[in-house]
Amino acid sequence: MDRLLYPAKHEIHKELSDIKYALDKSSILVLTDVNGVITYVNDKFCAISQYDKDELIGSTHRLINSGFHSKAFFKELWETIEKGEIWQGEIQNKAKDGTLYWVDTTIVPFLDGQGKPYQYVGIRNDISARKKIEEDLRQSQENYRKLAHFDLLTELPNRLSFNLSLEQMMQDHQTLAVLFLDFDRFKLINDTYGHSFGDLLLKEVAERFKRIIENKVIVSRQGGDEFIFVVPFTDIQEVERVVVAILKSFSKSYKVDDREIFISTSIGISLYPQHSNQVEELIKQADISMYKAKQNGGNQYIYYEEKHQLEVIETLELENGLRKAIEKDELSLYYQPKVNIDSGHIYGLEALVRWHHSTLGIVTPVDFIPIAEKTGMIIPIGDWVIRTACEKAKGLLEQNIDIRISVNVSMVQLLHDDFVNRVNDILIMVGLPAKYLELEITETVAMEHKEFTIKVLSQLKQMGVKLAIDDFGTGYSSLNYLKEMPIDIVKIDKSFVWDMKESKFDLTLIEAIISVCHSLELTVIAEGVETEEQYELLRMKNCDDVQGYLLSKPLPDNDIDEYLCKTAMYVPLD
Ligand code: C2E
Ligand code: CA
Ligand code: CA
Repeated sequence: MDRLLYPAKHEIHKELSDIKYALDKSSILVLTDVNGVITYVNDKFCAISQYDKDELIGSTHRLINSGFHSKAFFKELWETIEKGEIWQGEIQNKAKDGTLYWVDTTIVPFLDGQGKPYQYVGIRNDISARKKIEEDLRQSQENYRKLAHFDLLTELPNRLSFNLSLEQMMQDHQTLAVLFLDFDRFKLINDTYGHSFGDLLLKEVAERFKRIIENKVIVSRQGGDEFIFVVPFTDIQEVERVVVAILKSFSKSYKVDDREIFISTSIGISLYPQHSNQVEELIKQADISMYKAKQNGGNQYIYYEEKHQLEVIETLELENGLRKAIEKDELSLYYQPKVNIDSGHIYGLEALVRWHHSTLGIVTPVDFIPIAEKTGMIIPIGDWVIRTACEKAKGLLEQNIDIRISVNVSMVQLLHDDFVNRVNDILIMVGLPAKYLELEITETVAMEHKEFTIKVLSQLKQMGVKLAIDDFGTGYSSLNYLKEMPIDIVKIDKSFVWDMKESKFDLTLIEAIISVCHSLELTVIAEGVETEEQYELLRMKNCDDVQGYLLSKPLPDNDIDEYLCKTAMYVPLD
C-alpha cells in the first residue's frame, strides 16, 4: 500500500490546505482524529449526509452508518489505516432523512515522526448513481437467470433447472420416484375456451401443487400441460402419499374466469435406481407410463413396466400411420347389406371402414377409431367415409339401384362444429338426395350429450337425412327417451340378438323395444343375425329389418356390386 512519508509539520499544514483546496471543490471531504472523531467536513459532505457541520464535527461516522457493512468490514478498514496504509473501498451511508447513499472512499492516514497516524483524511465520491445501475444490472441478471431456470407462467422450475436438480438429487438420495403428469383432455379445454384460459388454468393448478408438495419433493413444468415431480423416498408408501395428494388436488374444481372447471390428470411413475440411473431415461419411462395411464382411461397413475414401451410404441405407430392413411389411400369401405325381414329384399348397405396398414394388414375400426377420435383424425376420416359412402350410393342410383347407405358417426364428429353443414356440402357435391343417406349414432353418445344431439339431429332430419340409434340396449337408456330423439330407426344391439334364444329376459326386452318403437312409428332393425333361427325369431316378434353374417359379411366395394347384381333383391324407397 502507498505510504505517505511524513514531512515537517508546517509542510503538513501547507500540504493539507492544498489538498483541501483541491478536493473541496470536487469531492466530499472529511478529516478525523485518530479515534475517528470528525474534525472537519466540507459542504459536499454536509449536502450528501444532510447534517450540519455542527452536528458532524465532534461526532463519529457512526452517525451516518447505514448498518449495511459487517463488523469485519470496519475492522479491516481500521487495521489498514492504523498501520498507516491507505484504505480504499465503497461504503454505504445513511443520510439524516434515512436515504441510503454510496460513496467511493479513500482514507489517507497522515503520519507523525514515528510513522504513527495522527489524522485521517477521507476523500469520497458519490457513487449512488453507479451503484443503482449496478443493482439494476444485477437484478436483470437475476431475471435472466430466472428466465433460464423458471417457467414464466407458473414460476415453477423449468425443464433445464429440473434436469440439474434431478441429477443432483440422484447423487444425494438412495431412491427417487419420478412422476410424469399430464392433464386429461387439456387440448379440448384450450380449443373450447381459448389458450389464455388454458394458461390461467395451468397457473391455478401450479399454485395448488405448490401448496400440496412436501419439502424435499420438487415439481417443475416441462411445457404445455406436462409437469414432473421428483419424490425422494425410503418407503414406497411415501410416493403413494404424494400421488394420492396430487390426484386429490384435482378432485376439486378450478375456478378460472368465473367458470368452474373440472379436470383430471394421468401420472406415470419411474423409480431410481430400479428402472434406470439416467435422467433422460427415467423421464422417458415415466412419460411412457403416463401415456399408458391415459390409454387406460386417464385419471390414474401407473408405475413403469418394460412392456409399456412396446405397447405405447405400437399405438404411436398407429397414430402416425393413421395421419397418412387417407393420402396414402389406405382406407376403404366395406359394405354390409340390410334386408327387409319379410321380403328378404336388400334396401340398404352399412358402410364400415377398414384400414389397410402396410405392415399390420387390415386394421379393424374397433382398433383405430378410438385413436382417430383421440387425435382428432376422426374429422377428416369421418368426412372421407361420408363422402365415399355417398359416392357409392350415387353410383348405384345411376345404375337404377335404390339403396340407402348408412354411415357410423362418432361422438367427436357430431360434437364438432359445423357437422350439419359439412354433411349438407357433401350431399350437394356428390349430388345425392338426402334420403339415401342414413347416419348411425350409438345410444351412449346420444344419451351423454342429449340436448346437443337433439339439436344436431333435428337439423339433419330437416335436411331429409335418415337417422338411426345404433347399439340400442347397451346404454340402458329408458325407452322413454326414444320419444325425445328426432330419429327414424332403432338398431337393436347384436348382443341381444345373440342371447335371445337362451335368455328369456333378452327376448322380452327385444319384444318391448319393438313394440315401443312401432308405437312411435320407428323402424326396428336387428344386427348380428347369424342364424336362420335368429332370423325367424325376430320375424315372429315383428322386427322390421335385419343385418348380419347370415345374409352377408361386410364386403369390399367390388364384391358388394357383384352381390347386389347376383341377388338383385332390393326394395325401392318410396
Ligand atoms: P357397429 O356400427 O355396431 O357395426 C357392426 C359391426 O358388427 C361391424 O364390425 C360388423 O362387421 C359386425 N357384424 C355385422 N354383422 C355381424 C354378425 O352377424 N356377426 C358378428 N360377429 N359381427 C357382425 P366392424 O366393421 O368391425 O365395425 C365395428 C365398429 O366400428 C362398428 O360397430 C362401428 O361402431 C365402428 N365403425 C365402423 N366403421 C366406422 C366408421 O366409418 N366411422 C365410425 N365412426 N365408426 C365406425
Ligand atoms: Ca353401425
Ligand atoms: Ca351396432
